Amino acid sequence: MIKEPQMMTGTVKWYDEKKGFGFITLDRDGKDIYLHHTALKQNKYNDITTGDNLTFKIKTRKKGLAATEVTRLDSENFVESSISEDNKPLKNNQIYSDLKFEDLELDSKIIDAVRDSGYKIPTPIQARAIPIILNGNDILGCAQTGTGKTAAYALPILQQLVSVKVNNSKNFKPKIKVLVIAPTRELAIQIKDSFNVYGKYTGLRNTVVYGGVGQNPQVKKLQQGVHILVATPGRLLDLMRQGHIKLSHIEVLILDEGDRMLDMGFIHDIRSIIKSMPRERQTLLFSATIPHEVVKLANSILNKPIRVDITPEQPTLEIIRQSIFLVSKNKKQELLEKLIIDKSVKRALVFIRTKHSANRVVKRLKRKGIRTDAIHGDKSQSARQDALQKFRTGNIRVLVATDVASRGIDVNNISHVIQFDLPDDTETYLHRIGRTARAGAGGTAFAFCEENQLRKLKAIEKLLRMRLKVVKNHI
Ligand code: AMP
Repeated sequence: MIKEPQMMTGTVKWYDEKKGFGFITLDRDGKDIYLHHTALKQNKYNDITTGDNLTFKIKTRKKGLAATEVTRLDSENFVESSISEDNKPLKNNQIYSDLKFEDLELDSKIIDAVRDSGYKIPTPIQARAIPIILNGNDILGCAQTGTGKTAAYALPILQQLVSVKVNNSKNFKPKIKVLVIAPTRELAIQIKDSFNVYGKYTGLRNTVVYGGVGQNPQVKKLQQGVHILVATPGRLLDLMRQGHIKLSHIEVLILDEGDRMLDMGFIHDIRSIIKSMPRERQTLLFSATIPHEVVKLANSILNKPIRVDITPEQPTLEIIRQSIFLVSKNKKQELLEKLIIDKSVKRALVFIRTKHSANRVVKRLKRKGIRTDAIHGDKSQSARQDALQKFRTGNIRVLVATDVASRGIDVNNISHVIQFDLPDDTETYLHRIGRTARAGAGGTAFAFCEENQLRKLKAIEKLLRMRLKVVKNHI
C-alpha cells in the first residue's frame, strides 16, 4: 500500500546562488540530492540558504537524483488569515504560503472534502507530515492540538486507503487497517469526526470505541466492519480480549497525544495492544511535548522515524519579568509559600514534575489558608474542568499543574508562572512562561533551580539568548 515517492521534504545542505546549484538533504533517509536553480518554483527563490526547509519531487538524472518543483516552506511568508472551520483564526498555526493541498498528491475525493471544510492551504504540520506519511515513513511528530495535526495524519491515511480499491458492497466486511489510539474519549470522538469529514467522499468506514458507556452499540458497529478504528486504550483492550477486535491486519498505527497517554498511565495497555498487531506496519507518534518517556516509547515502537517539530508560539520575552531562585529541594515549599503570600500574586500557575508532589504541595498550601487546587493526569476530566473554572473565576488563586494537564488551560490574566521544578527540556521552559503575559499584558515568571541544575539554567539562557536574574538569599 506504500505509494511511490512523490512529494518529498528536505533541508538545504548548501546552495551557491552564483553557481546556481547546491544540495538538499532528504528528511526521509539523510541522503543528499542535487538542486539546480531551474527547479526552484517560479524561479522566485534567489535567497535559498543552508537550513531552509523545502518540499519537492525527485527526478532521476544521469548523474543521480535531483529535485524538481521545489517549494520553500517559508517561515517569513506566513499568511495570518487562515480561518478554521468555525471561522476562528487558527492560533499558533501559521501557514506556509506557497504550498497548496493540490501539491500534496492527494486524491480529488480527499481534496474536495478538504475544500468543503474551508481550508485554503496546509498548516505547517500538514505541509511537513503529509509527504512523509505518504512515503510510508514512521513519524515522531511534536505538535499540539490546534495545529491541524489530525488532518496531518488523517489525509495521507485516507489517501493510502483509497488508493487500494474500496469495496462498497453491502455484504463486504472490511478488516481494520488503521488504528488511532487517543488518551481521552473527547479526543477520540473528535478524531473520528475528522475522519468522517475528510473521508466523506471515499466510502471508507470508521468507528470509535471508548469506555464509560455500554459496549453493545460499539460492538455492533465493529461487526459491520470498518477500515479505520479510533479508540481509547482501556476499552480497546477490553474488546480485544472479548474477541470483538482483531488487529492482525493493521497497516498503520497512530498514537495521538503520546505524552498525555503516558501521563495517564496507559503505557502497559499500549504495549499489550501493540503486541497484537503486525510488526510490519507504519507507526506515527504525535505528542505535544517530547519528554524522556516519549523518546523511550518512540525508540521501541517506531522504525527509523522522521522527526517533525512544530515549534510553539514564542512568548514576548521583553514583557515577562523572569527570576530564577537558587534553592535546595527541601526548601522549595517554604519558598513557594513566601512568594505566594505577596499580594501582587493575583493568579498563579505552578508547574510541578509529578502528580504526587502536586497533591502534596496543594495540601500544604491549603493548610496555610491559600485557596488552591491541582490538575494532573490522575484527576478525572470533570475534576480538572472544575479546578480550571475555579481558577478562571478567581475562586482559587493558585493552580498547581503537571505539564501535560496544563495544556488545556486557556486562562487569561495569569499574573505569575512559578516553576516549582525545572523542566527536562528547555523548550518547555519557554512554553510555561508564555502562559503569563498573554495578549501583550505583562507577567512574572519565577523558576526554582536546585544547586545541581545550573547546567539546565545555562541551556535555558542559551535558548532565550538572555541572562536571567538569579536570586540566592531569599529565605
Ligand atoms: P487539530 O490540531 O487537528 O485539533 O485542528 C485544529 C483546527 O484546525 C480544527 O478546527 C481544524 O478543523 C482546523 N484546521 C485543520 N487544518 C486546517 C487548514 N489547513 N486550514 C484551516 N483550518 C484547519
